[in-house]
Amino acid sequence: ILHNLRLWRQVLSITPRTDLTYSLELTYAGDQMSRNKNLSKRAHWAGNEPIVSQLMAKTVANPHLISLAAGFVDYDTLPVEPTQNALNTIWSDEELTRVALQYGTTVGYPPLRQAVLDRMLAADGCSVAEMNISLDQVVITAGSNQMLFLVSDTIADPGDIVICGMPSYYVVLGLFRNLGIRPIGIETDKDGLIPEALDEELSRLQREDSLDRVKAVYLTSYYDNPTGMSMSHQRRGELVEMAKRWSNRQTIYVLEDAAYRELRYSGEDIASMRSFDPEGDTVIHTSTFSKSFSPGIRVGWGILPPRLVGPVLAQKGNIDFGSPNFNQVLMATAVEEGIFQRHLETVLGGYGRKLDAMLDAADEFLAPIDGINWRRPSGGLYLWLELPEAIDTGMDGPLFARAVEEGVLYVPGEFCCPSEPSPPKKNMLRLSFGIQSRESIHQGMESLGRAIRKTL
Ligand code: PMP
Repeated sequence: ILHNLRLWRQVLSITPRTDLTYSLELTYAGDQMSRNKNLSKRAHWAGNEPIVSQLMAKTVANPHLISLAAGFVDYDTLPVEPTQNALNTIWSDEELTRVALQYGTTVGYPPLRQAVLDRMLAADGCSVAEMNISLDQVVITAGSNQMLFLVSDTIADPGDIVICGMPSYYVVLGLFRNLGIRPIGIETDKDGLIPEALDEELSRLQREDSLDRVKAVYLTSYYDNPTGMSMSHQRRGELVEMAKRWSNRQTIYVLEDAAYRELRYSGEDIASMRSFDPEGDTVIHTSTFSKSFSPGIRVGWGILPPRLVGPVLAQKGNIDFGSPNFNQVLMATAVEEGIFQRHLETVLGGYGRKLDAMLDAADEFLAPIDGINWRRPSGGLYLWLELPEAIDTGMDGPLFARAVEEGVLYVPGEFCCPSEPSPPKKNMLRLSFGIQSRESIHQGMESLGRAIRKTL
């Protein structure tokens, strides 16, 4: 262990003050690294995709399982006809077809960048001048995950810190670790990250002399994955202001992941975190058409502070010198022709009914069990459950095995939790209502209720 700690201190420039649990956690990867010299450090930091690979293996081995785990979108309402219509429009214009079939630019297809910007300005009810924004700051990527990776890689070095919610989107946690970034979790409630908790954590890191390693605060601002909650209007301003206040030596960016903004089934839309940053130097805004249209087309984007545009494009240029142009022309056409908006309006009702089906089933099958809590989302794809403390929801714990026996799959909550500042609680889990029918959701929730009772 000491050998590996020394190794990791060198690799990550960790000072001896660094939390011991973190260093120990890294030991495993360090150990692997000292064993296999044929792989890069980053390859070791990547880990082994615990959720994706293990949950997929379960589903394949048990085809009758109802998976409430995967965050997939609804299968039946995928935009088959709308995509066909957008393609027909492209195909009827030979010049546009050639543009679509040619390489594009690293920054992305201009009409799509304009469309994305216009939609955001309209949703936020702001003008270009009020937002202090320009088209140059809009960069298209192959899904927003790519943008999350690029900006993280651009602003943080191995050993740097990103503060995020406890819990957070598990893929982004893996992405941070892959880059050697330490995700540190802070408390959240029905309104998202708690500003006082952020302030406290920043003070603690300052006392530890690690403040200069904090590079960003990451959050899913709308219908969070996994909690389903949105950050309240008031907190958005508070949080951006706090990030600016603590940005003494280096900027602490607010990394706003707005992947689920369009999936709103009730309640009012809230202005983006970006609209609370009139200087435009603190909030990095990312979003995607994956949830609102099609994840197969996989088009996402980032709206970046001006000083990050060049460095992010330099990275992207080295990686792919531009995301697939065809998909960008397709999405631009879908938005321009009103195809995207019409499709979105038709699918929202269906998702709203699925969410209701899950909440009704939770009331029926879970509410009678003591010690189970959840909050009611008004959008997104997820429901987050807190179970009695005695229950370990982990893949090696008793509930997971029983749930599989009963025919239902969930995502163990520990996957969504950073391991700092304290080890994650074991009694939480994430459910998704995106892909299953209302009948399957009902049946899956009944099975989950049975599995929990048996485990208790
Ligand atoms: N952010 C969140 C919170 C997500 O849940 C997802 C997809 N599951 C993404 C980003 C990435 O989506 P994509 O790369 O398909 O745009």
